[in-house]
Amino acid sequence: MDQRKTVAVAIDGPAGAGKSTIARILAKELGYLYVDTGALYRAVGYFMRSKGIDPSAAQKVEPLLQDLKVELRYVDREQKVLVNGEDVTGSIRTPEISMAASQVSALPVVRRFLFDLQQDIARENCVIMDGRDIGTVVLPWAQVKIFLTASAEERARRRYLELREKGDSSTYEEVLEDMKQRDHNDETRAAAPLRAAEDAVKVDTSGETLEESVVRLKKLVLDRIGG
Ligand code: C5P
Repeated sequence: MDQRKTVAVAIDGPAGAGKSTIARILAKELGYLYVDTGALYRAVGYFMRSKGIDPSAAQKVEPLLQDLKVELRYVDREQKVLVNGEDVTGSIRTPEISMAASQVSALPVVRRFLFDLQQDIARENCVIMDGRDIGTVVLPWAQVKIFLTASAEERARRRYLELREKGDSSTYEEVLEDMKQRDHNDETRAAAPLRAAEDAVKVDTSGETLEESVVRLKKLVLDRIGG
């Protein structure tokens, strides 16, 4: 029998599959903490960029990690990301930082740097944690593992609309190209590549509304944890 006091729901999958939107709503409904681990890689990418460092250059990134402190804070259960005490929650949501995050995330030293932080949160709270390697590496003991996907075109369309709403001028073609590049980086990297855990339930949200996906996932979670 599982002796853990906390419940963890791991949601992995490629960019734009709806992980964060769905996870945030589900967490609220279940009273769990929503932990967006992509924000941690974005914070590292943001820091390297601010120092003028190439985010893919392991030899340059590694020594700078000594000068970096990444923290997660929760204000009314909303996640804030701090880089050396500065709240960067809003500044890390740009296409440039998406790409920098994708590049630093391929470095094993960066993945190790962020590992304990993610595990500690799940040890102390019931969480819905989303990312790329949560079910496979970070929380292999998670009671529920979901691998969320949708076609690249649908994911790009959703991300394009989201960016446009924020005033970003990227075109759909640029967003699709970026997304394919990031998928490729995530799937082919040696360190914790994006893949479904063997015991994950695969859910394809193509053609589904957000509400439909939330209902489907909530049922899946409640069935698993016996709620
Ligand atoms: O999810 P989000 O798009 O914010 O993640 C930014 C980047 O961080 C992803 O493209 C991926 O390369 C990386 N990432 C990761 N492992 C995680 C979460 C994100 O490698 N658990």
